[in-house]
Amino acid sequence: MKIGKDTVVSLAYELFDLDGNLIEKTSEPIGYLHGGYQGIFEVVEKSLDGKSVGDAVDVKLDPAEAFGDYDESLVHLEPADKFPGSIEIGMEFEGHQEDGQSKTIFRVTDVADEKVVVDGNHPLAGLGLMFKCKIESIRAASAEELAHGHVHGAGGHNH
Ligand SMILES: [Zn+2]
Repeated sequence: MKIGKDTVVSLAYELFDLDGNLIEKTSEPIGYLHGGYQGIFEVVEKSLDGKSVGDAVDVKLDPAEAFGDYDESLVHLEPADKFPGSIEIGMEFEGHQEDGQSKTIFRVTDVADEKVVVDGNHPLAGLGLMFKCKIESIRAASAEELAHGHVHGAGGHNH
């Protein structure tokens, strides 16, 4: 069987920055639904199309293809008294973007002089990445998985 639209693909992967530092590695294979369901980076999905079990695929991702370009407008300086309790670097808050609609996680990146710097960029925004994976299994998706747009069972949703 080959990877194609509406197949469930299970893969083991390692994610590196472009200097070769390991960022993330799967302990258990992850599953995603193939065919435009946004279950995985789009360029990775394109590279996996037509591949078979056991194939190894390496994909280089530009920042925009990975976690997005770094957006300076998502960095805000706020007065510390806007926050509850004591603030430490690394804390996360849910906030609204300027459109007032989409929610973003803001991370505290600096605290000084009663001011707090919060950054709504993904921690990996602005980074080029190397995604290295090996295909562990391929199966047809169930009708329920196609209706939900994601994988059920091992490596996927349990609900
Ligand atoms: Zn579901």
